[in-house]
Amino acid sequence: MMRRTIAAAVALATSVAGGSAVLAAPAPEHARAAPASAAGADETSRSAKLAGRRDVPKQAVARGYGGAVSTVDPHATRAGIEVLRRGGNAVDAAVAAAATLGVTEPFSAGIGGGGFFVYYDARTRRVHTIDGRETAPAAATERLFLDPATGEPLPFEEARVSGLSVGVPGTPATWQRALDTWGTWSLRRALGPAIRVARRGFVVDETFRSQIAQNADIFDDFTSTRELYLPHGRPPAVGSVFRNRDLAATYRLLAREGVEEFYHGTLAAAIVNTVRKPPVAPDANRAVRPGAMTVEDLAGYDAPFRRPTHVRYEGLDVYSMGPPSSGGSTVGEALNILETVLPRTTGSRASRERLALHAYLEASALAFADRDRYVGDPDQVDVPLDELLSQGFAEERACHIRLDEVLPKPVPPGVPDGEYNPCGAQAPPARGGQHEGPSTTHLTVSDRWGNVVSYTLTIEATGGNGMVVPDRGFLLNNELTDFSFAPTQGDAPDPNLPGPRKRPRSSMAPTIVLADGRPFLALGSPGGATIITTVLQTLLNRLELGMGLPEAVAAPRVSPRNAVTQAEPAFIASAQGRALAAMGHQFSEIEEIGAATALEFGRRGYVVAVAEPTRRGGGSAMVVHPVGR
Ligand code: GLU
Repeated sequence: MMRRTIAAAVALATSVAGGSAVLAAPAPEHARAAPASAAGADETSRSAKLAGRRDVPKQAVARGYGGAVSTVDPHATRAGIEVLRRGGNAVDAAVAAAATLGVTEPFSAGIGGGGFFVYYDARTRRVHTIDGRETAPAAATERLFLDPATGEPLPFEEARVSGLSVGVPGTPATWQRALDTWGTWSLRRALGPAIRVARRGFVVDETFRSQIAQNADIFDDFTSTRELYLPHGRPPAVGSVFRNRDLAATYRLLAREGVEEFYHGTLAAAIVNTVRKPPVAPDANRAVRPGAMTVEDLAGYDAPFRRPTHVRYEGLDVYSMGPPSSGGSTVGEALNILETVLPRTTGSRASRERLALHAYLEASALAFADRDRYVGDPDQVDVPLDELLSQGFAEERACHIRLDEVLPKPVPPGVPDGEYNPCGAQAPPARGGQHEGPSTTHLTVSDRWGNVVSYTLTIEATGGNGMVVPDRGFLLNNELTDFSFAPTQGDAPDPNLPGPRKRPRSSMAPTIVLADGRPFLALGSPGGATIITTVLQTLLNRLELGMGLPEAVAAPRVSPRNAVTQAEPAFIASAQGRALAAMGHQFSEIEEIGAATALEFGRRGYVVAVAEPTRRGGGSAMVVHPVGR
């Protein structure tokens, strides 16, 4: 029966050392490696040979012992594995992998952005989190993204490609805090692999090329970005070797001088200069609004520890990121609602699965309504986090769900006030849902001592705000566009309006699930607000629908977010998708949702590392000591 699935799943995972309990997904070797024939016409045979040496094979699933790394990129995964092999722990390896992603996935993440670091400490058996979210400058006001001439919200691209959208980056501070608190390596040492990749170069794949191509108009409007990412006026060819010597030098500077250099030194000055005087090309096609960031804003940045969110789900402990991210609270609330609703589902396996998916679609919509109404920066807004994650509130919300009927959308938020009645109070409906893009990256790492890292980092849009800091080799974020540009909650206050030193609400949901106090799963994904549903659906697939972790990650996705429910074509075409549509669910088709990475832990250090087999060109999973299936 459905209710027994989790206990059975956990028992299998913890008892089958060989991993045969976990369903295999095909693990395409070299899924993203560039074919030699695709090399640019200007490639010499020497650089083709170099490309051969710089290429790194990859696979989507790996099983074994001694620690594991899963990221979207084989260089980053290999950097993390190298650290683990040389005695580093999961935190050291996570920083090395993240720094390498700054080289090979620079359009998703880097030192110009921010993120959320979730860590399970094997010694104390506790989960900790670091909030490395970007922060608005002191000069920001509620009107940050209103056109001064008209009072109307700026068009998204105008807001994004500007100095206004840049938050003070949190990534370097996150790395330093994580290493200082739980790491065993210095920042200098952890940056080593990334420096090597930046200096020696890596082989351009189709994802890298196409992310430049989709931003080419924007990148071409900034002298610094054009110079780095549009050599000879176009994106580098697939198969060519790409180097970022400026970033290698910036990393070396950080390695030598520490993150002080970033928040108080020459890098701080360079960032402020770029924000205030964007390096707009003389022949640019756009006017670019400058921002008001100051060196004091950089100097005042902090990446604080935050209490993780925690819910019990079917006897498991689910930990994730709290405000200013809405990831943990929304995943947690939806799981609480699901736990209330799912025991009501009966019938054949197919009908129970359909009802579980229906309950997921409804629970997520309800949780998104509450997210939009109540979650913002906890240092500036009173977020009723404990109530949002309480059993009483979940029961009140779950009561609205009918197993044979679809709730009209958008659903209104509930009232998490501590006084709950069956199908109790609902607040007035509201619009909700500002723009959130499909960028970002997630990595999951474990080590031989049992420590686990689940870390999502981003520069917001793919390509951030489009500005490379001149001569420093990294892009700036546009994270402040995660604020609501104008109030979205009708007469109720919007918790996510911009403000001085405020952090925009995020959806990032780096998650760690414990069974009996020990790691069972770690997972996360990019994808703006779809991050929340990708994490939720992967958990549903693994815990309720009887899938192994590789299958749970690879399965077609559907993203219910109240204002809209997006779905991949394969989900819409599936038997369950068609049955749910016949029930009255409406799907808006989107090519691809998310790019998850995940780990599952068995007994005696056995781990299954999982990345996407195909989304975003496929990810890369490795373990320190692989074993056959
Ligand atoms: N800025 C988004 C957030 O913090 C992430 C960006 C994305 O994944 O597209 O939730």
